[in-house]
Amino acid sequence: MPSVFLNVLVFSMPLAVLASIYLMLQKRHHAKALDRLQEAQASGLTEPATLHPVIDPSVCIGCGTCVSACPEGRILGLINRKAVLVSPASCIGHGACNDACPTGAISLVFGTETRGVEIPQLDSDFETTVPGVFIAGELGGMGLIKNAIAQGKQAVDAISWRLRKTSGSALDLVIVGAGPAGLSAALAARQKGLQFAVLEQDSVGGTVSHYPRGKVVMTQPAELPLVGKFQFREASKETLMEFWESVADNVRSEIHTGCRVERIEKSADLFTITTPQETFHSRFVLLAMGRRGTPRKLGVTGEDLPKVVYRLIDPEQYSNRHVLVVGGGDSALEAALAVAGQPGTTTSLSYRSGAFSRAKTKNRSAVETAVAAGKINLFMNSNVTRIEASEVIIDSGDRQDTLPNDDIIVCAGGVLATGFLRSIGIHVEEKFGTV
Ligand SMILES: Cc1cc2nc3c(=O)[nH]c(=O)nc-3n(C[C@H](O)[C@H](O)[C@H](O)COP(=O)(O)OP(=O)(O)OC[C@H]3O[C@@H](n4cnc5c(N)ncnc54)[C@H](O)[C@@H]3O)c2cc1C
Ligand code: SF4
Repeated sequence: MPSVFLNVLVFSMPLAVLASIYLMLQKRHHAKALDRLQEAQASGLTEPATLHPVIDPSVCIGCGTCVSACPEGRILGLINRKAVLVSPASCIGHGACNDACPTGAISLVFGTETRGVEIPQLDSDFETTVPGVFIAGELGGMGLIKNAIAQGKQAVDAISWRLRKTSGSALDLVIVGAGPAGLSAALAARQKGLQFAVLEQDSVGGTVSHYPRGKVVMTQPAELPLVGKFQFREASKETLMEFWESVADNVRSEIHTGCRVERIEKSADLFTITTPQETFHSRFVLLAMGRRGTPRKLGVTGEDLPKVVYRLIDPEQYSNRHVLVVGGGDSALEAALAVAGQPGTTTSLSYRSGAFSRAKTKNRSAVETAVAAGKINLFMNSNVTRIEASEVIIDSGDRQDTLPNDDIIVCAGGVLATGFLRSIGIHVEEKFGTV
């Protein structure tokens, strides 16, 4: 009898050890996921910007396959053995979780019950409700580089089918935006022999150029006109940007950078596309503007000085300079911290509210530490009222400060493209947690 008991003990011990390791890991995953969810809630980062998963808890078996399948990592987590979107604002709509779920517990949707996402109405050729105006890439609702590449090409295929050769000085096509969708469309337009122009408010590369330094970009192979296979599965942001620059060389003379499209009007069969620099006339328009919108401006005197920029590119360029960062979101806080880390720099941060309620806890506490250490001069409840060549004036209600200034980085968010789409007459639908 004692030997039977011993045998049971010998066999059950490893099982008990394995079970307790499993339970410990489960507990740790639960705690980490809960932390991330609470952090997102505390920072108000609870709304996904694009297509994202909704999990049906009654179907979810808590296997965690979706958590490991997400290429962005740490977006989903297991809480009480159910999958939860714990970092909603960081979800970019890969949809890999949906493909991986063995029980079909996930559906991919736009918007949430509380916040609608506006999606333009498109037909199967990517034409909008305004005949002659097409949309490709993320602006149409579908994120991801491979979709943008495919749609840019397909839209130009459809446009070239409809194009009747006519004489005159108007272009066949104006493409707005030089991100993956716009560049793919430009290559297709070159391949088809169209007369075209690409108008880009910023520089070549689109949203990819705004990724954090060193970000690993995950994508699937796609086919680029003229260039051939887009082979990257995993690449750093910098490698991808080098690639886009080399791709752009095929259509460089047609790309107008720093050229923001402000208005599009149609009369007879032609569109007039207005930018601050030039006016273009074209038979077709392809909007490949993404969903980041255009940077929100301060609207103050002096904002047109070249020292005012709307994003941080290289912190090192600010060493030994007087820099003002304006804004209170993560990008403003991260810019201020990066600039403050440069040698010999004086960094000021101005925000119009009294608290950084929309930034991650990590960034808020890093800024608090930098302020306490005298590395950042903080102006809360303040507004920039005037910008001059070597100074900036900040109004904090009870006092005005004139700061020596060489550079201003404005991170005040973006103006969404949907108002612009409506101004052209394009029908836009608001989705509240639907496809
Ligand atoms: C942090 C982050 C990480 C991501 N990681 C990945 C990833 O790993 N893999 C992946 O596949 N996708 C990823 N994505 C999504 C991917 O970047 C986008 O889906 C893709 O860039 C969309 O391409 P697009 O050409 O439609 O738009 P965009 O890349 O946004 O390009 C639009 C261009 O239009 C320009 N524009 C806008 N308005 C105007 C105007 N009025 N006049 C002139 N120009 C204008 C903009 O300046 C911009 O250059 C990520 C997104 C983010 C934010
Ligand atoms: S893969 Fe499906 S079943 Fe498994 S945890 Fe994720 S949602 Fe739940």
